[in-house]
Amino acid sequence: LASRDFHPEDTVIEMKGVKIGGGNLVVMGGPCAVESAEQIDDIAKLVKAAGAQVLRGGAFKPRTGPYSFQGIGVEGLIMMAEAGKKHGLLTITEVMTPEYVDICAEYADILQVGTRNMQNFDLLRKLGSCGKPVLLKRGFSATYDEFLNAAEYILAGGNQNVMLCERGIRTFETYTRNTLDLSAIPVLQSLSHLPVISDPSHGTGRRELVAPMSKASVAAGADGLIVEMHTDPDNSMTGDGVQSLFPDQFAVLLKELEQLAPLM
Ligand code: PEP
Ligand code: MN
Repeated sequence: LASRDFHPEDTVIEMKGVKIGGGNLVVMGGPCAVESAEQIDDIAKLVKAAGAQVLRGGAFKPRTGPYSFQGIGVEGLIMMAEAGKKHGLLTITEVMTPEYVDICAEYADILQVGTRNMQNFDLLRKLGSCGKPVLLKRGFSATYDEFLNAAEYILAGGNQNVMLCERGIRTFETYTRNTLDLSAIPVLQSLSHLPVISDPSHGTGRRELVAPMSKASVAAGADGLIVEMHTDPDNSMTGDGVQSLFPDQFAVLLKELEQLAPLM
């Protein structure tokens, strides 16, 4: 079902007037994690003002260590839904377990599967019937074939609204957090009709690389970007402040992107 042979036309996912795929550029911006109602509201306002269409933010965070901040949970979902509604943005949030799919689908417009869960098959199966579009992140050691097979689980469950997200893979390089695989963008678009989104924040782990890799992703044909932005990155509750843009950098980036592709 994910294959371009089976479905030659690009899949276009349409939600509240925003089209994802088929030559439109969509930008999803926001913090790594929802931290408070005030934080997500402030950031949502800036995301909207910059011209992005989707607010990102994790209420459930997949942390490498069990003692790290794990997200504020359902309360965060509610805060983000309110901020999205108030500022006229769609919302995307990560869901980590099948048990939480229904509640996340109740509050968010798009559900995100994180890199660590790309092959959580029970989760993927459950997302097949969640009724909301899904952004599936590539596992950090997954081949294109494994990635597309993971998407296939969601499609086979009856949900045709799947986006593929390249978020960097593990290589021998340690300067960057991951290596953003730009080739994945045209390769996945040739193999599949699903929209391809690039995540230069997790793909590089370094703020100063986010803008150049965003532009490179768009030049490579990405259908959208998911970018971390924070009003106070040095004090963010996850370690992802180092890769989060300041609001003014985010606004400048969107202006530059508009020269490359019209923002839907
Ligand atoms: C995130 O989007 O904050 C995140 C945890 O991403 P990934 O699953 O790509 O690490
Ligand atoms: Mn993050």
